[in-house]
Amino acid sequence: MDSQASFKLLLIDDDEVDIMQFERALKKTGLIYNLHVCKNAQETLEVISKEVFDCIFLDYQLPGIDGLQLLKKIRDKDVLTPVAVLTSQGDEKVAVKMIKSGAFDYFAKSDITPDSIQKVVISGIRLWEVENQRKRAEEEINVNNYKLNAILESTTSIIYAVDKQLNLLSFNSTFKNSIQSRTNTDVKEGMNFAMINFKNSERENIVSSIDRSLQGEQFTQVEEFEVGGNAVYIETTYNPIYVANNEITGVAVYSQDITEKKKFEHDLLQARNDAIAAAKAKSDFLSNMSHEIRTPMNAILGLTELLLEENFTGGNLENLKSIKYSADNLLVIINDILDFSKIEAGKITFENINFDLRLRMAELKKTFDYRAKEKGLEFTVTVPENIPHYIKGDPYRLNQILFNLVGNAIKFTSKGFVEVKTSINESEESDKINLVFDIVDSGIGVPEHKQNKIFESFTQAYTDTTRKFGGTGLGLAITKNLTALQGGYINIKSKVGSGTTFTVEIPFEVGNADAIEKQDKTEKDLILDLSEIKILLVEDNLMNQFVAKQFFKKWNNEISIANNGLEAIEILAKDGSFDLVLMDLQMPELSGFEATEVIRAEHTKVKNRNIPIIALSADAFQETRRKVLEAGMNDFVTKPFKPEELYHKIVKYKPLRGNK
Ligand code: ADP
Repeated sequence: MDSQASFKLLLIDDDEVDIMQFERALKKTGLIYNLHVCKNAQETLEVISKEVFDCIFLDYQLPGIDGLQLLKKIRDKDVLTPVAVLTSQGDEKVAVKMIKSGAFDYFAKSDITPDSIQKVVISGIRLWEVENQRKRAEEEINVNNYKLNAILESTTSIIYAVDKQLNLLSFNSTFKNSIQSRTNTDVKEGMNFAMINFKNSERENIVSSIDRSLQGEQFTQVEEFEVGGNAVYIETTYNPIYVANNEITGVAVYSQDITEKKKFEHDLLQARNDAIAAAKAKSDFLSNMSHEIRTPMNAILGLTELLLEENFTGGNLENLKSIKYSADNLLVIINDILDFSKIEAGKITFENINFDLRLRMAELKKTFDYRAKEKGLEFTVTVPENIPHYIKGDPYRLNQILFNLVGNAIKFTSKGFVEVKTSINESEESDKINLVFDIVDSGIGVPEHKQNKIFESFTQAYTDTTRKFGGTGLGLAITKNLTALQGGYINIKSKVGSGTTFTVEIPFEVGNADAIEKQDKTEKDLILDLSEIKILLVEDNLMNQFVAKQFFKKWNNEISIANNGLEAIEILAKDGSFDLVLMDLQMPELSGFEATEVIRAEHTKVKNRNIPIIALSADAFQETRRKVLEAGMNDFVTKPFKPEELYHKIVKYKPLRGNK
């Protein structure tokens, strides 16, 4: 301690002799000091509330008050200055009492010497410093605690720490409230976990997790509780608490209520599943609807075609042609919707057969020539010499793509031209070529910002398109998908007012001619007169029966009809002279599949169990074709049937007659 520092000292004494004696001794200590003397309690309390002293000397005997009472009053004023008591000789009991009440030292009045005073001042000041340090440390701890608390309380998560004996070291109010509501226990610091009224399973779970963490493991787990009948999910992390020497002294636990998150995840999954189910329902609906519509369409188209072959003239002929035109259009739309739902359901498949590209392109030209001429458009289709004649792939899907694009080009062009140009892009695979088709028109064009959009389903470039030109907005979506599914791509270049170019590139194999010639020949060789063939049509729909009858009449054939599978079996059991069965699939009583099974059964009552069966179905899915063949039927024709196709299929099975 610096003995040159000036000390502020207070002497509380009413005895003049004592005071003189004290001052004299103090002078001799060599301390630098400033001494203030108070002679009674009132004076003392006034002075100490104004000034701060380094050491106080208090006489025990004061007028009207004893030293003990005054000491209390001093301390009540929050004055913590060290107080030494002056006692009469031999009054040790008093001294002990005073020290118990907060005085730090005492000495007898008879012992007032420079030495004793110096000793008391110095030790008092030391004590004072220690006390101040302790106070500062305490304040610091308080501030830190306050900060820590602020952090602990700023979260809605549960935070607590326990020692090795599972005594609660500290916790935040979320923990306190959570325990209160879950277990009805009012937790306090220091409380042992055993005092909390957990359900047994819950306690076991937490205690075993804390034990795990006490072994040094830090881990996170999700715990499920039930609160008021509802599941509550808590994600909890257990952290071992280490002290300096790497010893584990306890565990800090951090828990978060993730019930909302879980619920959100669950809702999200549910929403996703709902969306998938909704998409499937939409796709199923579209597919079912278009099938349902195709059946009456079959009748309308068939009958119109038959009527057109009769000798109508003038207005009636025009009306009939309009019916045919509208029905054709309607069928295109229905087919589009069906294709679209097939693409969406991932059920579309592609043929891989040889075809003559130039023949297909000539057909394209022929189909659209009339429409182009009607609008006064120049329409050209070119296939340069360097393109192979025979291509292997799916000619029907290629047709569909080109028909869509050329149809659009003519639809959206009012003057000028439409041109289809064919070229080759070399492929990296040696046995493949990339065929490129440019469909160029001088029409209205597509604004830049719509050029990507029009490939989306149900999207048209202008809102008035449907009113002006008709259409569903499905064509390009289908075209793009059909192209992409064959490993190709489509893009558009267009300028409003000056025209549009769609470019389609699709990889194909180079085909071979032999297969095609063989195909053609078999069909040509087999053209026979249907009057020789005895056919049983199994069909429940009266309209379809009627249409079929009309067609077969044209081919000199009087077909027999069964209204369902059961009837068909009865007829075939009685009459063995039938050559062929045309079998609808969906029928009451016995479906086409079930009827076929009965016909083909080993001990069937049907006279000719090997009779050729051709399925008739509005469903064009590859899957249905597979099922049809698996069920033992020989072939498949889609409704509405194209008369030529049906004719050829029937003729194809005529030679089977000999197998009877
Ligand atoms: P749809 O023709 O049935 O409306 P598409 O999917 O075939 O449906 O075409 C979508 C839209 O793209 C059309 O409505 C039209 O606005 C635009 N479009 C397509 N082809 C052309 C074209 N050659 N010229 C101008 N606009 C076109």
